[in-house]
Amino acid sequence: MRCEICGKKVIGKPVRTKIENSIMLTCNDCSKFGKVQREPPKPQRGPGSRPPAGRRQSFRSQEPTHEVIEDYQNVIRKAREKMGWSREDLGEKIYEKVSVIHRLESGKMVPDLKLARKLERSLKVTLLEKTDQAQMDDLRGAHMQKATIGDIARIKKG
Ligand SMILES: [Zn+2]
Repeated sequence: MRCEICGKKVIGKPVRTKIENSIMLTCNDCSKFGKVQREPPKPQRGPGSRPPAGRRQSFRSQEPTHEVIEDYQNVIRKAREKMGWSREDLGEKIYEKVSVIHRLESGKMVPDLKLARKLERSLKVTLLEKTDQAQMDDLRGAHMQKATIGDIARIKKG
């Protein structure tokens, strides 16, 4: 590495010197002819590379805290058969169309919370299980203590 001004061999690190709007790598002596530049700043994390820390998951308070078991179609069908009901019978009991019962028992339709509760009551079965989300809801009291004002506002809004 040679000094860009005097051409002397630079021992050690050259000095970044600003002379007439151009940056030159110079020896220590020549650096006094210009303005010494600091080391270029380490590239800051641009807005694109920032992790989505600000976008915390909002509380999904509107989602059901229970979810339908995976095996619901078999549970429904077996329970119905145990009761000695036809699909039509079950449909009448829970005020749903037979086609709904068909779809439920074939696994083509996952009952929503309301429907699942109706089925549970009529068939004396359990179709809903608590989700992790529900457990989180149980702990919400503890979370609230740490929550920021923004979080609280969001919870109230939700
Ligand atoms: Zn020099």
